[in-house]
Amino acid sequence: MSRTGIRVAIDGPSGTGKSSVSKMVAREFGYGYLDTGAMYRALTWWCVDQQIDLADVDAVVAQANSFDLRMGTDPSNPTVAVGERSIDQEIREHALTVLIAPVATNLGVRAVMKQRQRDLMESLAAEHGGVVAEGRDITTVVAPDAEVRILMTASEEARLARRSKELSASVEATRAQIVDRDRSDATVSQFLTAADGVTTIDTSQLTFEQSVQAVLQVIGEATGRG
Ligand code: C5P
Repeated sequence: MSRTGIRVAIDGPSGTGKSSVSKMVAREFGYGYLDTGAMYRALTWWCVDQQIDLADVDAVVAQANSFDLRMGTDPSNPTVAVGERSIDQEIREHALTVLIAPVATNLGVRAVMKQRQRDLMESLAAEHGGVVAEGRDITTVVAPDAEVRILMTASEEARLARRSKELSASVEATRAQIVDRDRSDATVSQFLTAADGVTTIDTSQLTFEQSVQAVLQVIGEATGRG
C-alpha cells in the first residue's frame, strides 16, 4: 500500500506542553491533528453514559469497537463527538478524568484504539500532507514507523506548575492527580524514557514558543522541511 504524508508522533506525560505544542505545529504545516487522549476520554464518557461497568473488560472492548466516535482534527478547533452529541466539555471534567484508568489499562481497548488511531493517522496524513498525533504510546505502539517521533518530557516541578495553572488548582492537589495518573498510565505505556529512534525534547526550561521551535527543528531535520 502506498502512503503519502508525514506522520509526526508526539508522546509524553501531561504538563509537558504536548497538546498545545502539537496543535501549533500542525497549524504551521496545515496538517491534521489527532488527540489520542481525547479518544480514551470519549470512550470513558460513552461507557458511563451507557451505564457500562468500566471494570467489565469485554463490555468496554465491545463499546470501543462499535461506538460512533467522531474526532474533529482541525488543529485550530479540535472537537470530539459521539454520534451527534458533542462532548468537548464533558471529557475534560475532573469527575470523568478520574474514571479513565480502568479503560486505558484495558488491553483489549488498547488494541482497538491502536487500530482506530493508526487508520486515522494514515487518512489524515494522506488528506493534509501530514498529521501530528499526540498521546502516550504513539511513538512506540500506534505508529512506531512514523516519519517523526518525539518524546516531550519535563521535570515534575515544571509539569505541576503548568497543570495547576491550567486547572486553577493548588500544586498539592494537582500533584496527587498527576502522580496517580502517570503511575497508572505507566503500567501500559512506556512514555517516560524515549524508545530507540525517538528524539527527546525536555521542555522544563523552554517557553511555549521555544518548545514549538524545538519540535519544528526535529521535523525539519527528519523530513528536510521546516
Ligand atoms: O492526554 P490526556 O490527559 O487527555 O489523556 C487522558 C488519558 O488517556 C491518559 O491519562 C491515559 O490514561 C490515556 N491515554 C492512553 N494512551 C494514549 C493517550 C492517552 O492511555 N495514547
